Amino acid sequence: MTSTYFDVIIVGAGPFGIIAAKTYLELNPTATLALLETDTSLGGAWSKNRVYPGMYSQSPLGMIEFSDVPMKPTPQHYKNYVPAHHVHEYLALYAATHIYDGKSIKDRIRLDTRVVSVQKLRSPRDGTGSESRRRGSTWVVGTDCGQTMVCSKLMIATGITSRPYIPFFNTLDFTPPMLHTKDLARLAPMFMESEGVRNVIVIGGSKSAFDAVHMFISAGKRVDWIIRDKGSGHAGVGLAERTPVYYKNSHQILSTRLMSKMSPCIFQPHDHWMHFFHQTRVGRWATDMVWNTMQFAWLKAARCGHSGDASGARPQLP
Ligand SMILES: Cc1cc2nc3c(=O)[nH]c(=O)nc-3n(C[C@H](O)[C@H](O)[C@H](O)COP(=O)(O)OP(=O)(O)OC[C@H]3O[C@@H](n4cnc5c(N)ncnc54)[C@H](O)[C@@H]3O)c2cc1C
Repeated sequence: MTSTYFDVIIVGAGPFGIIAAKTYLELNPTATLALLETDTSLGGAWSKNRVYPGMYSQSPLGMIEFSDVPMKPTPQHYKNYVPAHHVHEYLALYAATHIYDGKSIKDRIRLDTRVVSVQKLRSPRDGTGSESRRRGSTWVVGTDCGQTMVCSKLMIATGITSRPYIPFFNTLDFTPPMLHTKDLARLAPMFMESEGVRNVIVIGGSKSAFDAVHMFISAGKRVDWIIRDKGSGHAGVGLAERTPVYYKNSHQILSTRLMSKMSPCIFQPHDHWMHFFHQTRVGRWATDMVWNTMQFAWLKAARCGHSGDASGARPQLP
């Protein structure tokens, strides 16, 4: 069997696959490069098939795009957080307009192509096909369409949210319809429109769980939200508005140099500022003041103490 040869194969056409292709082609414009994508749309988490109604980016404009092409604001943005379909359109345009040797990144993406096997050849002599032998390729990539491709460089950009994680539930005789938030865009309308579905249980405490809770409550369903007790509660939530005038949203504040020094993050270089804010009395007092004030404002805005039910969503604090 003959195989198609590429200098580079990238598995996954999400944001990282696309930027990996751009970076490589920028340096080697004549390289033969293919992106293999199992979905029928590019974008990964921002694929047309995964973007559900009400999904917004958690990162604001300026932090959600690639540095060489600023994302244009959209009228539907909220405090500079953008609707997910806008992110998808940005990625699609980015892939279509980055052209190398007459071929855009988009043209190099093979959609609906799942990589099912990858084999590293021990030596160039093991190559399948004369082309690969000549160029000394070292990877053989198999797809679910039965194709075999050979390349000398392989990049894996498959992300961490492509494969749904569904824990085992012992539901005995009761087998409710179940959906993972990866399929929210495709299946949620069916659940929302069905009169037979009156109660929804959402399991999980991160972004897509928040969105699912909001989506089903807005559709008039009764929602029970379950978050495991060993994970410190739901993911951190910040308030988009109520920031000092200069900053458009809380992300911008948290990304300032001053705030990053006040964060006890272990990746921060240990400089004089870190020493001051975390190892002196005055600095620790100032740091505590800032975080406590922010925490107070966010808890108040989340109205966790507003009703008996909502108090369960109060994050576990140290
Ligand atoms: C609901 C949600 C909201 C998010 N919001 C934000 C946000 O606001 N800001 C932020 O920075 N991040 C956010 N993220 C994180 C998000 O994962 C990243 O922004 C980004 O999509 C990661 O890019 P990636 O290319 O590494 O992975 P993905 O975007 O996951 O792309 C991986 C691609 O690989 C493909 N793939 C996987 N296996 C194979 C295979 N065997 N063969 C072929 N193709 C394969 C997948 O189909 C997918 O298209 C969010 C994630 C989710 C799920």
